[in-house]
Amino acid sequence: SPLVGVLALQGDVREHLHALEAVGARAVGVRRPSELAAVDGLVIPGGESTTIDKLARIFELAEPIKERIAAGMPVYGSCAGMILLAKEIADPAKDLEGRPQQSFGGLDITVRRNAFGRQRESFETDLDFKGLDFSAGEAGVDPVHAVFIRGPWVERVGPEVEILAQVDPDKARHTDTLHGLARIVAVRSGKLLATSFHPEVTGEKRIHELFIRMIRGEA
Ligand code: GLN
Repeated sequence: SPLVGVLALQGDVREHLHALEAVGARAVGVRRPSELAAVDGLVIPGGESTTIDKLARIFELAEPIKERIAAGMPVYGSCAGMILLAKEIADPAKDLEGRPQQSFGGLDITVRRNAFGRQRESFETDLDFKGLDFSAGEAGVDPVHAVFIRGPWVERVGPEVEILAQVDPDKARHTDTLHGLARIVAVRSGKLLATSFHPEVTGEKRIHELFIRMIRGEA
């Protein structure tokens, strides 16, 4: 089975390690370039994208991660991880010197941080999620129950990017900030996968399973 790293600088690392093991992968935390070099794919967890960005540069992982992304390594980013994979951040945070946060990039999308609003930062909803056909039962593919915790949404997708899921404003409660519009919350481009929500905290295994299939070249 593939060896999958979880970027272990900050965020919900343990939840991703467990989710990966639950779908039959070997999972390991990644904090050094030598550990990154050993993995077949990488998960960038939810957390705080500005912190992960800063630590990745301090730990000298940012450049090696960018190089491996460019070389085709499969990467799955959830929430803060989606922000770190995005080519463009609509509203980057700035540090004390006024320098905007950076991302590893690779995924041709523009994200907006904390997009679902501050006053109701967390909400849950069911999503139709493309690409989970392998899990279909008699009644088709079950929806994904998604938990959003100060999550981003995707405001622009490049021509190569496939939209896998959107929040349906008619289904989602507590989302005044949608203004009646569907918002993109899961995308894939080549070997890069990103979700605005956290499958690792709900016991949802299919997103990690999809990622393992991508690593194996089966999806
Ligand atoms: N708002 C966070 C950020 O900008 C992401 C939140 C999360 O990962 N749960 O990084």
